[in-house]
Amino acid sequence: MRNRLELKKITRSFEDGGTERTVLDKLDLEVAECELVAVMGPSGSGKSTFLSIAGALLEPTSGDVLLDGESIFGKTKQGLSELRLRKIGFIFQSANLVPYLKVKEQLLLVAKLSGMKKAQTVERAKELLDRVGLSHRLNAYPEKLSGGERQRVAIARALMNDPAVLFADEPTASLDASRGLDIVSMIAKQVKLQRKSAVIVTHDERVLPLCDRVLFLEGGKLIQK
Ligand code: ADP
Ligand code: MG
Repeated sequence: MRNRLELKKITRSFEDGGTERTVLDKLDLEVAECELVAVMGPSGSGKSTFLSIAGALLEPTSGDVLLDGESIFGKTKQGLSELRLRKIGFIFQSANLVPYLKVKEQLLLVAKLSGMKKAQTVERAKELLDRVGLSHRLNAYPEKLSGGERQRVAIARALMNDPAVLFADEPTASLDASRGLDIVSMIAKQVKLQRKSAVIVTHDERVLPLCDRVLFLEGGKLIQK
């Protein structure tokens, strides 16, 4: 199966009081289509740095990221932002919905930003919201939704641009245990159904059985234990 995400020898250092501190050290990762990978590690181990680089939000000091085989190397700021819109879906810890947009409009905004043809977008938004069990909430504003419902909107929104890879940074942190399991099983299901790759950073051991691989960020690398 093809890899929809590859990280090759990713190194990232930060300046720390006059000295360089290496957070990621020649980190390699390949994620195949239909594969959901969990990443764990203590606070400060570099998980957010890793996720930002893999999601083309932050540049590595060296190394390359390939999304569907397309390298981020040498791209302009605009080129990177186009690549992000085409290839990446992000789900954050708190859903980060736009407060003044209705549920379906949250998805339509993504469609607009990524230049999708308007004719298909309303149908696609409805279909995705139906898949996460929200067809009855299309016209609700975020403040009327529960935490779990908001995360489900965030999942549908992340899928709207048909990305190669889904990234989630602690998507269950603001939810109770059973809602957390719901959310990760929904992510897992969409990854299989739509042949995507996904990486979730999590502290939540209960969701690990839903993931295909569990990796630990240690010493700047991802290790399978
Ligand atoms: P985690 O998400 O695992 O808690 P982070 O990736 O946020 O870890 O941070 C890893 C390390 O890199 C921390 O020591 C943090 O202080 C440092 N770091 C992260 N971003 C920056 C930055 N922009 N400037 C300087 N140091 C940073
Ligand atoms: Mg973090």
